[in-house]
Amino acid sequence: MTDLAIAGGRVVDPSRGIDDSLGVAITGGRLTGLGDVGPAAETIEASGLVLVPGLVDLHTHLYDGVSHYGIDPDANCLRRGVTTAVDAGSAGAQTFPGFRRYVIERAQTRILAFLHVAVQGMITPLIGELEDLRWASPAQAIGRAREHPDVIVGVKVRLGYQMVGDDPGPALRLARQASEQLGLPLMVHIIDMRRPISWLLTQLGEGDIVTHCFHANEGGILGPDGRLHPEVARARARGVLFDVGHGAGSFAYRVAKAALAQDFPPDTVSSDLHAHNVAGPVYDQATTLSKLLHCGMSLAEVITAATAAPAAAIRRGSEIGSLAPGHSPAGRPRGAGLPARSGHPGTGRSPRAGSRARSRRGLPRHDVVPARRHPGGHGRHGGDAGRDTAGRRGDQGRHDHRAGGRGRRARGG
Ligand SMILES: [Zn+2]
Repeated sequence: MTDLAIAGGRVVDPSRGIDDSLGVAITGGRLTGLGDVGPAAETIEASGLVLVPGLVDLHTHLYDGVSHYGIDPDANCLRRGVTTAVDAGSAGAQTFPGFRRYVIERAQTRILAFLHVAVQGMITPLIGELEDLRWASPAQAIGRAREHPDVIVGVKVRLGYQMVGDDPGPALRLARQASEQLGLPLMVHIIDMRRPISWLLTQLGEGDIVTHCFHANEGGILGPDGRLHPEVARARARGVLFDVGHGAGSFAYRVAKAALAQDFPPDTVSSDLHAHNVAGPVYDQATTLSKLLHCGMSLAEVITAATAAPAAAIRRGSEIGSLAPGHSPAGRPRGAGLPARSGHPGTGRSPRAGSRARSRRGLPRHDVVPARRHPGGHGRHGGDAGRDTAGRRGDQGRHDHRAGGRGRRARGG
């Protein structure tokens, strides 16, 4: 018999062309059926809710206790509807074994990772991780990634002047070397880069990821006239992916709206959730999705950008990101530590899209997450509509240092 049935909800899985009122059946922690699901040991009434595949957040920071960005994955991801969270470079080759042992293995959230080309990862805002290139080691990154192919999905580098100084070229070259030899995507943080994005994009190829794509600082996708740099569209045509990575100061409504007006939606909508933005302005991935709804993306588009698209970006589309029967439960990839019986889904009751999704009893442990039905399909939220989040950051994310120096701040994760 079915363990758990979720009845009466609007099931939305754009990757499978589903947008219908359907029952969802879960047995043994796996999705076993959609439609008329029959009797179940437990049934959850989901009328008025939208049920979507477990969200995949492509950009998070979860090395709690080691990186200054780190936050608890289960409290901030799984309980908010994110069943798969991808850490974006908090750990490098030297610090990754601890990240795996103390965070990935202990969390119920399924955690995957981009490995930073800097061996220490992103530990402190006091010194940019690649201001001194001796911290970079493609060889160590390659070795570590080959040891952990089940969880390391790509290489990360941050090219802001706070991290690499005024010339991002050498750091990019070293990160590129690691990702090419591994055959894995390279994720590049572009905010405050002291070279134009056209310079960067010519060096990225199919599957590489530009994160913080809607920031409003140096190195952005818009020219001074507000038009997209021509190289941006050419990069997309080559298969370069553009990820939101909202962060503390890495998302500007005016850039997002200008991009959408020029038919340039993001490929993936991630939060860049970390210690300096989890209490606002990010809160969680679902809140970030609501902002893109407000900017004009449809419900189907934002759900795709937070499920199937990021799953494909990390080459896990056959395992996560859709409601395909048999898709594996959320939580640890190996299933160890999970109770034999599946958990319970969240029940979104928030005006935001599932942003306050919580379980009824314990944590949700499978890939079915109810989110709030969105009236009309397109964003009409009030709140801080139209206001840029850039420039509204809390003091926590600002770390002016090097008195008398270049006034650097640790911006964006
Ligand atoms: Zn980040």
